[in-house]
Amino acid sequence: MTWQPDVTVVGGGMAGSEAAWQLAEAGLRVALVEMKPAAMSPAHQSPLLGELVCSNSLRSADPVAPAGLLKHELRRCGSMVIAAADQHRVPAGQALAVERFGFARAITQRLALHPRIRIERRRLEELPAGPVIVCTGPLTEGALGEVIRAELGGDRMYFYDAIAPIVAADSIDMDFAFRASRWGRDTETVDRDTPHDRAAGGDTGVGDYINCPMNKVQYEAFVAAVNAGRKVLPHDFEEPKYFESCMPIEVMAERGDETLRFGPMRPIGLRDPRTGHRPWAVLQLRPENKYLTAYNLVGFQTRLAYPEQQRIFQMVPALHKAEFLRFGSIHRNTYIDAPARLGESFQLRTRPNVRFAGLLTGVEGYIESCAMGLLVAWLLAAELAGRTAPPPPPTTMIGGLYRHVTAPREGDYKYGPTNVNYGLLPPLQGTRKDNRKERMSERARADLETWLAEGSPSRALVRGTVSA
Ligand SMILES: Cc1cc2nc3c(=O)[nH]c(=O)nc-3n(C[C@H](O)[C@H](O)[C@H](O)COP(=O)(O)OP(=O)(O)OC[C@H]3O[C@@H](n4cnc5c(N)ncnc54)[C@H](O)[C@@H]3O)c2cc1C
Repeated sequence: MTWQPDVTVVGGGMAGSEAAWQLAEAGLRVALVEMKPAAMSPAHQSPLLGELVCSNSLRSADPVAPAGLLKHELRRCGSMVIAAADQHRVPAGQALAVERFGFARAITQRLALHPRIRIERRRLEELPAGPVIVCTGPLTEGALGEVIRAELGGDRMYFYDAIAPIVAADSIDMDFAFRASRWGRDTETVDRDTPHDRAAGGDTGVGDYINCPMNKVQYEAFVAAVNAGRKVLPHDFEEPKYFESCMPIEVMAERGDETLRFGPMRPIGLRDPRTGHRPWAVLQLRPENKYLTAYNLVGFQTRLAYPEQQRIFQMVPALHKAEFLRFGSIHRNTYIDAPARLGESFQLRTRPNVRFAGLLTGVEGYIESCAMGLLVAWLLAAELAGRTAPPPPPTTMIGGLYRHVTAPREGDYKYGPTNVNYGLLPPLQGTRKDNRKERMSERARADLETWLAEGSPSRALVRGTVSA
């Protein structure tokens, strides 16, 4: 009798390795299809599964930091990838960094030795008829990429990512900022923001925007700092071809001292109520979430290095003590418009046997991709066992990511990738402002335990034990 998988997982990176393991631990037979080593993306170099394509850091180990909290949650969920990371940890201060070959070898061995997993080394070019989780990552290309694109229909797959930084609302110094919409209108046509901004309708709702004014001296110092700031160089396969409307701020600044002031920092239509005058330049901040706890720097996509972003953007007076929840970046990426095309268990609405996990769903980073692999596997395994199970609580990091990917968007909001940050979680109740992150982290841990004990999909499964 031929061996038939219950589920096919495509791609043995962060998401696929975790998904295959979780499904197999739930008692399902899994075919894990990986194209390496016969075919390699421009970023992958090793035949091993669980390959880290760039940094060997899985980011902060501090349990209160967003990445530390997510790793705690993943450990509690029995993540095989995080267990391998803990096993192959190298000293890196407050970060969980790993010896990358040992880490990937451990993942490969555990998957290869699992009695219910079969690793198939081939490039998948079509979507199979049975249950499948597609985890082919940020460089999904070729025939499979075309099939996915056709399945999504139209323009619902994106190949480049231009991300503006996000700051915590309570770190903006409102003594140096004012709320207003350009021209004081409810809506307007914004002609120079990014496609993201235009899709969001631009400057909507009187006072929705926080405006950070600068005078001439401040603006000139800011432009000089942007020009001198250290930038992250693109990879060889990331030849920069910027859309005019999606230009990094440093490229605009290089074109001339006034360019930013006629671009994303244009002051036209804005009057500072404290002076009664139009400022020399204005950086606009737009709400990033419905809780109004996080704001993004409109049109500020950038390749400046992260520490440089913090230093230079804090030169804007209203941002002098800004806490950055996410830094800006520009890189090649492939992700799908998940809220528009995927259902609540990450299944394609038009073809429910096909699910997506990992970076393709619009999360950023190794551990976020791993988290989505784990979650999609749990939801699928529960479904195949004929059970329904609630998703993770919104107060947890894994729940915040789940909602980022699946929650329907209001209006014409352009979906974009995120990594974990506290802006994904609902704010705390009450007026207390101290130790906000510590208390949110405690809340997440408690709610995760309740979910694991009472309602998580894992309760529906026949599970083995994940040992380190
Ligand atoms: C150049 C670059 C640098 C990055 N640096 C970092 C970083 O430093 N830190 C960080 O957190 N994140 C980084 N990322 C993002 C990183 O890729 C993701 O965080 C994470 O690896 C995504 O996990 P994934 O499982 O979705 O995809 P991946 O880990 O990329 O895994 C995808 C797997 O699918 C396989 N595959 C693809 N197509 C097929 C097919 N048709 N058939 C069979 N197999 C296929 C690939 O060979 C690969 O093994 C970087 C991304 C890129 C492109």
